[in-house]
Amino acid sequence: MRPLVVGNWKMNGKLSESSELAAAVVKTLKTDGRQVQVVLAPPYTALATVYRTIRKSPIELAGQNCHWEERGAFTGEVSPLMLRDLGCKYVIIGHSERRHVFHETNQVIARKVASVLQQKIRPILCVGETLNERNKGRTAAVVTGQLRLALKGIGKNDIRNVEIAYEPVWAIGTGRNASPEQITQVHRRIRRFLVTTFGDTRGNRVRILYGGSVNPGNAPDLTRAGDVNGFLVGGASLVAANFASVVHCYVH
Ligand code: PEP
Repeated sequence: MRPLVVGNWKMNGKLSESSELAAAVVKTLKTDGRQVQVVLAPPYTALATVYRTIRKSPIELAGQNCHWEERGAFTGEVSPLMLRDLGCKYVIIGHSERRHVFHETNQVIARKVASVLQQKIRPILCVGETLNERNKGRTAAVVTGQLRLALKGIGKNDIRNVEIAYEPVWAIGTGRNASPEQITQVHRRIRRFLVTTFGDTRGNRVRILYGGSVNPGNAPDLTRAGDVNGFLVGGASLVAANFASVVHCYVH
């Protein structure tokens, strides 16, 4: 399965900075996209600009979030239809910052996943436990619970268009990544859920990314953890050379 590496720029970058960063990523990456799929998720304001910069490269564009409706009276929101119009092939859904800072529930996340799939955009569904939940031994229950609710109603045909990102909340932006053993354990649990729910063939084809303080130093080790099919990269994706180093772990 072709690995996927996604750069989540979060709420960073004026237009000129986003444009420069995208151009630097295009220049620094040594891949034609066959060995690894690379995706950039700039803020909404920079989507059109970044799209113009990456359009002729193998890099694809992602939104960081969206609403579940196509259009309507939802001030301040952006729809999957609008994202597709801007060239997005992917969108991050249920990022821990959306869940914890903006109080998105699994029910809201499920609506978004379904709506995004209808627009032929691939959702990158984020799941992960808090430190408190891990310390209480609830990691597997939390992660499978999030998956069950967010993928409720997703048919066997649609699951092939979904990406899963395991992002332990305590590892995001903290400089403290999960260990390869911890990642393997959770990814195997996620795989078991996917296979049980969607069948062997389909369940085994879904990519499971790891996210949480991935950087050029730890990425080579993390690629060797069991069932890691790529990365969701936050902080390290804001420096082109660092992001490229992470991607290049998959280019041989
Ligand atoms: C993220 O934003 O999804 C993320 C994993 O951030 P960081 O790499 O900075 O931990």
